[in-house]
Amino acid sequence: MKKLSLIVLLSFFFACGDSSQKKSKEGSKEAAIQEGIADGKFNDFKHSFVEALWKIEPIWASYVGYHKYDSLLPLPNEDSRKEKMAFVNGMKEELNAYDLNELNKLNQIDYKMIRDALERFQFGIEKFKRFEWDPSQYNLGGAFYQTLNYRKESLEWRLTQLDKKLENVPAYYSEAKKQLKSPTKVHTELAIQQLNGSKSVFEKKLIDSLSHSSLGVLFKEKFIEKSENAVKAINDFISFLENQILPKVANDSSSFRIGKQLFEEKFSHDIHSAYSAEDIFKAAVEAKVELHDNMYRLSEMLWEKYYGDTEKPGNRLKEIQMVIDAVSRTHVARDSFIYAIRQQIPQLEAFVKEHDLLTLDPDKPLVVRETPGYMRGIAGASISAPGPYDKDAETYYNVTPLDNYSEEAAESYLREYNHYVLQILNIHEAIPGHYTQLIYSNKSPSIIKSVFGNGAMIEGWGVYAEKMMLENNYGGSEKEMGLMYYKWNLRTVCNAILDYGVHVNNFSEKEAMQLLRKEAFQEQAEAEGKWRRARLSQVQLSSYFTGYYEIMQLRDTMRVLKGDAFSLKEFHETFLSFGSAPVKYISEIMQDDALKVLE
Ligand code: ZN
Ligand code: ZN
Repeated sequence: MKKLSLIVLLSFFFACGDSSQKKSKEGSKEAAIQEGIADGKFNDFKHSFVEALWKIEPIWASYVGYHKYDSLLPLPNEDSRKEKMAFVNGMKEELNAYDLNELNKLNQIDYKMIRDALERFQFGIEKFKRFEWDPSQYNLGGAFYQTLNYRKESLEWRLTQLDKKLENVPAYYSEAKKQLKSPTKVHTELAIQQLNGSKSVFEKKLIDSLSHSSLGVLFKEKFIEKSENAVKAINDFISFLENQILPKVANDSSSFRIGKQLFEEKFSHDIHSAYSAEDIFKAAVEAKVELHDNMYRLSEMLWEKYYGDTEKPGNRLKEIQMVIDAVSRTHVARDSFIYAIRQQIPQLEAFVKEHDLLTLDPDKPLVVRETPGYMRGIAGASISAPGPYDKDAETYYNVTPLDNYSEEAAESYLREYNHYVLQILNIHEAIPGHYTQLIYSNKSPSIIKSVFGNGAMIEGWGVYAEKMMLENNYGGSEKEMGLMYYKWNLRTVCNAILDYGVHVNNFSEKEAMQLLRKEAFQEQAEAEGKWRRARLSQVQLSSYFTGYYEIMQLRDTMRVLKGDAFSLKEFHETFLSFGSAPVKYISEIMQDDALKVLE
């Protein structure tokens, strides 16, 4: 921090920056050649690293679109874990052969991300040990579905892979039983529910596909027998969970809490933040207070418009809730939900251009479509981007139409995604949020960043984009937009509070509900879903706020470092140019570069 304040004093030297930068470029031709060789070698290493990873993680591989090992099904046991640790140790050694300083900036980040991934694998095996307490990780429905759905290969090819994979299913479940030393009640219940759901992949989808294939009668007979055995193994595992595990954990109401030490460790492995989980929790609690103040201020100004001279409830949170309820009634009709989103995209593009916030790639318009049937489960909107092995595919903005909703459910959904929130959602998902970030990250393609992309950076950018648009007066002077934005941001903030609260501070269900319903103004169903998710996951709910918080901090720092030369557009474009890497690593490079210019 000391160094930083000195720089502030020296910032009037900034005009010299340009010429000194040129000089250093000219003098480093030789270094550039050296750099090229080291980077070339490292690029080869990255590819062999990922290849080796897919061989021991074939299921993960098929999820990212790599199907070479689709016939493999490793057993979940000590042997596989030993094999993975051998991979971790071997790769750590290979990585050590590279000198971080000889690599270019993008590869320096990749280097760190590989190192982090290896440490994370080790943490998972040696300390976190999900395999001992989370039965829901023993679910093969998705693994089989990913192969079956890989339409670049013939149906016959896919079924032949699956035929081999099916052979190991009974052994897989018999090993799974042995691993479960201390299952939690909530994860056991989830496992039972999900396993019952994924049985249909084996009972129906595989068999249907088989009947459409041109494979021989003998193959088909054996395949049917193997899939029947797989279903038997799954049923056996389900009844093991129901009859042997559930009675033992009937009174378990807290083993899902991972506690402070593990939470901090997992936080550092998953997020790679410059802050501790405790710092982030405290920052979130502060942010909540500030949001409530802002929301109350706007509610006071909006009260008369919606409630005339009706007496106020005499309680800040209740008053905010009442104004939110009134404002939420302004929403699109259920049958024009997608139409409204489609119309908004060009408006957002125009706003970003007009305010010079960042450059948008004009060649790649975003395609808004109805969510395809096989992806529908939960309502809502999402960006679906091509994976690392499917680069030419289109990027879509999936929006689920409200066709199957009852009148009441549709109304409740439309109020949640009302006229104002719908715009914030589009900013987050599309422009200048996730979709824009994705386009920038594709400009410097990296297999490492596509495989280990940092969730906190990606979500943090989405949340930051909302804030930044509002700062630039998106929505004009409409107080309703401000109020709804704060409500939306409060959700992110309360996700972080809930996550740490549940795992470290022993939040009870009642406390969680108080937070979500009364302080974050959420509907009962949404709050219940969140309480469940907070018990089933760890750290993930904190990632949105952490990424956002760190981007805001970085922007403040860059403003100080660059002084009058700070440009918001340049900040955005530089930040995004490093791809989906931890904000901490991007921040280190950006600050370093800014300091070099000043030297
Ligand atoms: Zn309505
Ligand atoms: Zn998001």
